[in-house]
Amino acid sequence: MFFKLLKSFFKISEDEKFPLYRFIKMAPSSFDLLIKFLGSRVSKEIFKLLIRAFLYVKPCIKPTGDRHINVFLEFFNSLSTKKKEALILRLIFHYNIGKFRRFARFLKTKDKEDVINLTSITLSIGGLCNLDCPGCFMKGLRSDKFIESDKIKYILDQTSNNDVFYVSIIGSGEPFLNVDSAIELFDCIKNYENMTFIIYSNGTTINESIAAKASELDNVIIFVSIDGFEKQNSQRMGVGAYKNIIKSFGLLKKYKIPFGYSTVVHTKNYKVVTSQAFIKEMAGHGNLVGLYNQFCTVRQSGCEHFFLDGVSTEEYKKRFKEVSQISPIYLYDLKEVEIALHGCKGKKGTICFIDGVTGKVSPCFLFPYAPSELNVYNDSSPERLSNILRSSFFKGYRKSYVKGIHCTADLKGELEYFYRNNLVPYEDGDKIKEIKTR
Ligand code: SF4
Repeated sequence: MFFKLLKSFFKISEDEKFPLYRFIKMAPSSFDLLIKFLGSRVSKEIFKLLIRAFLYVKPCIKPTGDRHINVFLEFFNSLSTKKKEALILRLIFHYNIGKFRRFARFLKTKDKEDVINLTSITLSIGGLCNLDCPGCFMKGLRSDKFIESDKIKYILDQTSNNDVFYVSIIGSGEPFLNVDSAIELFDCIKNYENMTFIIYSNGTTINESIAAKASELDNVIIFVSIDGFEKQNSQRMGVGAYKNIIKSFGLLKKYKIPFGYSTVVHTKNYKVVTSQAFIKEMAGHGNLVGLYNQFCTVRQSGCEHFFLDGVSTEEYKKRFKEVSQISPIYLYDLKEVEIALHGCKGKKGTICFIDGVTGKVSPCFLFPYAPSELNVYNDSSPERLSNILRSSFFKGYRKSYVKGIHCTADLKGELEYFYRNNLVPYEDGDKIKEIKTR
């Protein structure tokens, strides 16, 4: 809030009347020093001591009047002191230091088109999948290889240079399909305590060793796909997946890993996934939050019957709103949140997609198109990702940002932009057109 106010102040009034602005202009090195100090080891250690003192006085935080927050508090209170300390450090210290650094960059960069305000990335770690869900977005990006750990490290260093706080990890298939690769991934990400890793899994491959390894880390949240009870879940994810998903919930709960469920909402499940019975069941399994994604794909034909039409969309939205008001856990419909709060994050420039196997960088995994030279592995400079995001392609893409418009709401505009830049393979372009006419 404080930063938003300052930012808007700077935008409307750069007339040097505001003392902080004048101070920054007159003494940029003092400002650099201040940022350096805030992000330094000393300031981190001071902050750690404060947290320790706080946890000594208040080892458990009492429930509030808000049932959603209480679910998080209950989880927080069940953690060890070390884990609590790490969580507070990351959510308050690292989160705000990153925000402060990004804000400082905004102030200091003269050409505002050059400002990189990346707050999260989506990283595909590659690999195949054990399922074959109709409409799978990653099908066209599948690779039989998993990213090597030195490449993960390279990408995370680049990401860290840009003060990114959230890293969403997906596979080009299922990220936990190969246990050794999963363990390697956890070994890598435990060194980045300033970032939060959100891993999306189909929930059918999480076993005891993956859960045990994940529980050693303080910066991992896992989202597991589930599309309803067994009957509805089998319609896209196949017979047998449901039982494994429920088993995964049990393991994640046992090892005290923060987790939630992620549902693809379509014609055959929208009533069930918005029913009180389903949400109660999900909360009972230990999910802290539920994510809802309205079915959308540009990648395959033959799954048109999954799209919600106008009437069912309205009914779904009504049901979702009603059930959210009584749900014991937070529920987010990603499309509606995007429309209400920020619009397409790819266009806004706060997110980008990196295919870790090929190194290609594009605005979003839903539209993974960009000039091939925008590859993070093309050189090893620590500024490689920043330079890609300052390329004319990304600048042009950011210019198309309109607040409050969901990324799949302007597929025609999107398509035109990619066509103009010769970036869309013919068959994908055709699919996008098809969806637009629905
Ligand atoms: S589980 Fe995920 S990656 Fe695998 S087929 Fe289904 S949607 Fe695609």
